[in-house]
Amino acid sequence: FVAKKQRNTSRLYSPSMKDVSKREQELENGLFPALEGEQFVLYYQPKVDLKSGQIYGAEALIRWRHPEFGMISPLDFIPLAEKTGFIIPLGEWVLRTACRQIKTWEQQGVTALTVSVNMSMLQFQQKHIVETIQSIISETAVRPEQIELELTETIFMDNPDHTLKILRELQQLGVRLSLDDFGTGYSSLSYLQNIPLHYLKLDKSFIHDIVTDFKKQMIFKSLVVIAHNLNMKVVTEGVETDEELQIIRQHKCDLVQGYIYSPPITAECFIELYHKHVS
Ligand code: C2E
Ligand code: MG
Ligand code: MG
Ligand code: MG
Repeated sequence: FVAKKQRNTSRLYSPSMKDVSKREQELENGLFPALEGEQFVLYYQPKVDLKSGQIYGAEALIRWRHPEFGMISPLDFIPLAEKTGFIIPLGEWVLRTACRQIKTWEQQGVTALTVSVNMSMLQFQQKHIVETIQSIISETAVRPEQIELELTETIFMDNPDHTLKILRELQQLGVRLSLDDFGTGYSSLSYLQNIPLHYLKLDKSFIHDIVTDFKKQMIFKSLVVIAHNLNMKVVTEGVETDEELQIIRQHKCDLVQGYIYSPPITAECFIELYHKHVS
């Protein structure tokens, strides 16, 4: 038994596991040079207004064009950036790049788009987060209403009162706030009650079996009613099929973001898609 146990334990430190942590270390060390070397890129995934069928805006999603490993998913490096604190400069880069993109699109005649960016808990723990966001907005001369910040409930885990104060200041600033990944983790209705939110984003895990799970449909339907009564718009993430789309449409969801319309794409492809949709 002992031998077996030892073997099991040692499996944790098998050569392949060492490779994983070696790779992680490699990525971690590569973060700063990658920012300097302009290896990060934002992709944009359209959010479609279900009533009008028009593209309402986009979520900016970061990717790392690694010279050796190819395109790296944010799921593989955002946790490392959060662990090391690198998410602070990276998060600023994301917001600035998204704001500049809004301006570029404006110069191409597209003025109606809102763009959302994802925010990490660590960014909210920064003392000057509001000033930082404000200065990026004025430096790039976008209208604050064009910016949407996507938050997850994790930002309330550390110091909820402080977080709430910051969110109120951001609301004053005029940016839009969105609660991301709702329906996962410990999603609590008290967040909806206390945060000045514009959008509620229902997580894709919620949508996953909605076609066959009647109870999920009823929860979905009820959440849309709650959100609307609290003056929020509902965005459903991860919609891939016509059946899913039909159900969320039936239950009065406002906006859809999912492969059914488009995966995240480059800024150039995004604007091409936008024009195709409009005409
Ligand atoms: P998220 O904010 O919930 O973003 C939505 C994710 O769902 C994106 O994954 C998107 O590509 C994916 N998705 C959208 N529609 C569908 C669909 O129909 N089917 C499926 N299977 N997936 C769909 P992505 O781009 O890999 O990003 C993963 C996560 O990484 C994001 O989840 C967000 O938490 C984080 N992330 C991405 N960019 C940033 C960033 O700039 N800053 C921070 N802090 N986090 C980021
Ligand atoms: Mg998001
Ligand atoms: Mg999400
Ligand atoms: Mg997510």
